[in-house]
Amino acid sequence: MTYEMPKLPYANNALEPVISQQTIDFHYGKHLQTYVNNLNDLVPGTNFEGKTLEQIVELAPDGAIFNNAGQILNHQLYFLQFTPSQKSAIPTGKLAEAINKEFGSFENFKKEFKDASTSLFGSGWSWLSQDKNGKLVITKETNGSNPVRSGLNPILGFDVWEHAYYLDYQNRRADHIDALWKIIDWDVVEKRMK
Ligand code: MN
Repeated sequence: MTYEMPKLPYANNALEPVISQQTIDFHYGKHLQTYVNNLNDLVPGTNFEGKTLEQIVELAPDGAIFNNAGQILNHQLYFLQFTPSQKSAIPTGKLAEAINKEFGSFENFKKEFKDASTSLFGSGWSWLSQDKNGKLVITKETNGSNPVRSGLNPILGFDVWEHAYYLDYQNRRADHIDALWKIIDWDVVEKRMK
């Protein structure tokens, strides 16, 4: 199996001013491309040949194969959850119901998600996932890990590696988190629910 780049459903400058073209050019075009190239170099000849990204992230021991597969899976979920023209600025349908049930309100969910994102020390990701019973949970993952490693179903992820925001926001991670809500495609997030 050859691991491929996800195709962006928007132009590289379409998420401005929340995410600049320069950041997409580097983050998608350089960082993600490197993870894809690395994994395609690393997997042949190992027992991960023919495995999906999810299978590798679930099964691989800590190390280069796990790190690169995790980061490809993370960035696929990340880049495909954005839209330049929000059809709805807030979750609707069963996603809205689940958020209200678990977090009380959309505003409180955003606060808890921001707290997770800003309190993560170093490089990593904050995620909204479903557990085995479909209940929504917010978790933090360090470096390149992904919630599927813990048996969760990730539906929304914020990348808090500095490469995701430093060109546009420098050290202001919290401002970047606040801005990301403006480009989330909630229909995409809802469709990821099982
Ligand atoms: Mn990244």
